[in-house]
Amino acid sequence: MPLASPLASPPAPAPATLETACAIVGAGPGGLMLGLLLARAGVAVTVLEKHADFLRDFRGDTIHPSTLEVMHELGLLDGLLALPHTRAPRLHAEIGGRDVTLADFSRLPTRCRFIAFMPQWDFLAFLAREAARHPHFRLLMQAETQALIEEDGRIVGLSARTPQGPLTVRAGLVVGADGRNSVVREKAGLAVESFGTPSEVLWMKLSHQPDDPPYTMGHGGPRQGFVMVDRGDYWQCGFVLRGQSYDEVQAKGLEAFRASVAAVSPLPPERMAEVRSWEDVSLLRVRIDRLTRWWRPGLLCIGDAAHAMSPIGGFGVNLAIQDAVAAANRLAAPLKAGTVSDRDLAAVEARRRFPTKATQKMQLMMRGKRRSNDATRRNGPPAFLKSIARWPVLAHLAGRLVGLGFRPEHVKPNGG
Ligand SMILES: Cc1cc2nc3c(=O)[nH]c(=O)nc-3n(C[C@H](O)[C@H](O)[C@H](O)COP(=O)(O)OP(=O)(O)OC[C@H]3O[C@@H](n4cnc5c(N)ncnc54)[C@H](O)[C@@H]3O)c2cc1C
Repeated sequence: MPLASPLASPPAPAPATLETACAIVGAGPGGLMLGLLLARAGVAVTVLEKHADFLRDFRGDTIHPSTLEVMHELGLLDGLLALPHTRAPRLHAEIGGRDVTLADFSRLPTRCRFIAFMPQWDFLAFLAREAARHPHFRLLMQAETQALIEEDGRIVGLSARTPQGPLTVRAGLVVGADGRNSVVREKAGLAVESFGTPSEVLWMKLSHQPDDPPYTMGHGGPRQGFVMVDRGDYWQCGFVLRGQSYDEVQAKGLEAFRASVAAVSPLPPERMAEVRSWEDVSLLRVRIDRLTRWWRPGLLCIGDAAHAMSPIGGFGVNLAIQDAVAAANRLAAPLKAGTVSDRDLAAVEARRRFPTKATQKMQLMMRGKRRSNDATRRNGPPAFLKSIARWPVLAHLAGRLVGLGFRPEHVKPNGG
């Protein structure tokens, strides 16, 4: 049962024009964290979100140790962990019929040595509630950004659609935190580089029974391409489509689909009867891309808007949060003074470009070469999975990379 969002009620009427130091498009993990950090530092910030609430499709429920550390630095960890969640001190996979620890967080130099699994809407509602305690924070739900306002080559604001009519926001800085299909990056004309081949994942829920395997996440060997996330009373399962489209899968019929999933799932085949129709299956297109430049005068992109992440390894939420911390650390003071320069924006990108590139490389490596299901069975798991299976000590290294990332960010004590 999701937490009641404080924002589920009808939005307060918005004035037709408003001014703010920073306008953030998108109340996902990146946008809300940046809004919270800037408001805490005394910057007038307005976050615009196109949806009416945070209840949406499965978008990744992982909160990594480095994000939990950020929450601790903000004094919000205990409040967050008081919400219903499950903990994974290790991630497992089945490789060649063996249960292998892929990533071990037990030796991390952090307060929390586990990944917390929590519905993303609960995490977002928590961030929004905490941000709303700061007088400089404003969140406009059902405010869909449609265009940017440019004057003399500089972005100076945006226009949005709201239930009350069109809204114009003038801002010292516009931040695109509007995810992988970012309108901001498109309207700003920022160039995108894509990596690897896009893939499709079918997500479904299967009940969690007492005799089920103890994996928190599993893929590898013949079961490569099948992911299970323990959500307490159910498994959130992802089935990666290899060498066929969703249309082709649907054309073969539900029974054939149930059989294909049962063949790679460690759960009893009868469990697939819980998928009663295609309505129980949701399709997600996964791609990895990155802006060649994350900013323009007056505008910055962070999170998936700057670099769409694949769900592999569950890095995306964490990276968006880390971008937000780096951006707040660098930009809070100039935003307050009204002096944000191109140099400040370039500095945020320079700080976050390396960890982003390295993480995306790792995701591409973890995915291995794209092969058909049959070829996958013949060729087995990618080399790095075989190495972890052979040398368990590597699981601690993997735990560090997955849990903390390549460049963990820390909240400035004075708010920036
Ligand atoms: C199937 C799937 C599973 C995943 N699993 C995981 C996982 O387990 N762990 C993990 O860390 N990552 C996972 N990811 C990746 C993760 O979801 C993203 O990397 C992460 O959410 C990025 O955060 P963000 O704040 O940048 O953008 P988003 O979370 O995409 O948030 C963007 C927000 O902007 C809003 N928005 C969009 N356009 C507009 C507009 N025009 N005006 C106003 N608002 C707008 C959207 O409604 C949304 O609220 C997964 C991704 C997918 C597709």
